[in-house]
Amino acid sequence: MMSTTTARSRRFLARSIHLAALASLLSASAMPVSATPWSKVQHPSSTMTEVIGGVSNGCIGGARALPAFGPGYVSVRRYRNRYYGHPDLLGFIGDVGRAQQGRGSGLMMVGDLSQPRGGRMSSSHRSHQNGLDVDIWLTFASSQSEANRSMDHRSDPRSMVEPSRRRVGSHWGPDQQALIETAARHPRVDRIFANAAIKQALCQSAGQDRGWLRKVRPWWGHDAHIHVRLSCPPGNTQCIQQAPVPAEDGCGSDLAWWFSDEALNPRKKAPSKRPAEPEIPAACRAVLRAP
Ligand SMILES: [Zn+2]
Repeated sequence: MMSTTTARSRRFLARSIHLAALASLLSASAMPVSATPWSKVQHPSSTMTEVIGGVSNGCIGGARALPAFGPGYVSVRRYRNRYYGHPDLLGFIGDVGRAQQGRGSGLMMVGDLSQPRGGRMSSSHRSHQNGLDVDIWLTFASSQSEANRSMDHRSDPRSMVEPSRRRVGSHWGPDQQALIETAARHPRVDRIFANAAIKQALCQSAGQDRGWLRKVRPWWGHDAHIHVRLSCPPGNTQCIQQAPVPAEDGCGSDLAWWFSDEALNPRKKAPSKRPAEPEIPAACRAVLRAP
C-alpha cells in the first residue's frame, strides 16, 4: 500500500513537472528571439576552465572549441558559433566518435554545444548554457562535405519517429540504437533527452543489461537529434547539478504517459507574459567581462 502510494505520488509529481515544462516550451516557441550579450562574444574567456551555474542559467569560463571534424564525427552549422564546451564534453564527443568510426556506419553529425562563454542564446535553446550540453543528429553523413552540404542553412534532417508520434519510423535502426547506447554508457553522461517513441524502441530492443536506459529521458521533439548532458565536472564547485534521474529503467508507466492524449495533444494555453530572466550568477558576469 505504502509503495503504491509513493509510486502514484511520484508519477503525479513527474506529470506535473512534464506539464509545467510543456507550458514553458509552448510559450517559449511563441517568444521572439531576444538579444543577449552572450551571443555577441566571439571567443572563450582567458580565465581558468570552469563551469558556473546550471544548464539553463550559467556560463563557462575558459571553454574549448570542438575541432571541425575528428575520428567518426563532423561538427555542423559552425556559422552559429556554438561549438564550445568543457574539455569533458569534447572528450565525450571524441570517445563516441571513435566508437562510431568503429561501427563504420557513417559520420556522426554534432550540432550545437555552447556559445564561446556559454550563457543565454538568442534562439533555439534555453539550456546549453554551461558547456555541458550537446545535440547529436541521428542521421549519419558519408563525408564532411556531405554533412555540411546537407546541414548548413537548411532544415533539420529527417525525423526517426512516425507522424503519429507513437512509434519509430523506417529511418530508425541499429545504428541509431548503438549511438544512443554508447552515449548513455559513457561515465560522464548524466542524461540524454530523446523522443518518447525512441525511448520506447530502446526499451523494447535492450537486453538484460539495461542500466544505461535510465539515462535516456523521454521528451517532446528530439526525434531527429538527441540532446546529451554531462554531469558537473569534478572539482567545479560553482556548477549546479540537476536532480538525479530515477533509478529504474523508465520503461514502465512513466513512459506510457507520453503516449496518452494528454501528452500527445496538449491543449495550448494562451501565451503568458515572458517570465523575467533569472539573475545570472555573479561569477558569470566576471566571465563575460574577462579578456
Ligand atoms: Zn539540445
